[in-house]
Amino acid sequence: MAGSIIPSPHGNRLVDRFVVSDKKNMQDMYTLQVSKELRNDIENIADGIFSPLEGFVGEDDFQSIVKRGRLNNGIAWTVPIILDIDEREACELKDAGEIALVAEGEGEENSNEKFAILHVEEVYSFDKIACAKSIYQTDDIKHPGVEKMVNMKDWLVGGKIDVVKRIEQSSLRKYRMTPAETRTEISRKGWKSVVGFQTRNVPHVAHEMLQKAALNLYDGLLLNPLIGKKKKGDFKDELILSTYLALIDSYYPKQRVMFVTLHTDMRYAGPKEAIHHAIMRKNFGCSHFIVGRDHAGVGNYYHPFAAHEIFKDYPDLEIEPLFFPAFYYCKKCLMFSNERNCAHGQEFREELSGTNMRKMVSSGEMPANHLMRPEVAKIIVSFKEPFV
Ligand SMILES: [Zn+2]
Repeated sequence: MAGSIIPSPHGNRLVDRFVVSDKKNMQDMYTLQVSKELRNDIENIADGIFSPLEGFVGEDDFQSIVKRGRLNNGIAWTVPIILDIDEREACELKDAGEIALVAEGEGEENSNEKFAILHVEEVYSFDKIACAKSIYQTDDIKHPGVEKMVNMKDWLVGGKIDVVKRIEQSSLRKYRMTPAETRTEISRKGWKSVVGFQTRNVPHVAHEMLQKAALNLYDGLLLNPLIGKKKKGDFKDELILSTYLALIDSYYPKQRVMFVTLHTDMRYAGPKEAIHHAIMRKNFGCSHFIVGRDHAGVGNYYHPFAAHEIFKDYPDLEIEPLFFPAFYYCKKCLMFSNERNCAHGQEFREELSGTNMRKMVSSGEMPANHLMRPEVAKIIVSFKEPFV
């Protein structure tokens, strides 16, 4: 592929930590229960989405991530992938060697199934407030990331993982792919450049126009919504999935778009999470990544352009951030414009605000066709309880 700018995986090696299970061996192991969210991230490690991580970080990497946004070996990494345990577990795990992981269930049959092995390398304590201040740039308990961190157990266990059993296939997981799979597909399509687009929203025409503006310049588009725990008021995963599928079906050139879900939680870490999001898309094979205004932000914790500025600290990232200004419909330009190319004032702009969207949901009133595609709006209006 002459001229291709598809980057190598982060750290130059795609991690694969799936193994054929040795069930007999696992039966005798110490067992640790993890949350469903953590099971998703464990599968992400095994799939190489978090390459070069092969497991939960140890203390040196943890301290290095918190202090300078890099792994101990200097590779860019901004959000620590950690497994918290309580004091009793810390004592028991310290010399346990290999342990088995089970996921908490919601009553499904295989909830107690041992799905992975953790090779315990170290157990250590951590300073939650210092970590929160570094990752979230605040220790305000009202920040959802800080709240989660403060409520974590007091100890961390680091070590490589091996996954023996994937999470069951479901309608929500039908569109997940591993980086090995997306990279194969990118190469099959012959794309030499790919733009990653992160979303946790239903698509407005403004989003579509922004994505298509990127398609004017690059070969392929990886639409990559985040499926996982979100905050109250966000749209539900099922809705994000079905509206995007409807939009792609009616309005996108199929040979230029890939739709892949990413199963991990929003952390609302603003600029640090923008880097984390870019690293995951680099592993999927993206050469470019669209970074929004206040990317991965929440409330007023981050400056709207902090998520752009931070990329200056990572010239070695090997995935290029694209800072598109937000698009809006301009009644003077008679098209979707943005602050970079439109000369007209606020009074000519048409946008679908959060308030508009909630009104649409409560009254069932369809928004104007040029702001939201009717195929998309219909799905939202007919969806029972669209918000988390
Ligand atoms: Zn204009």
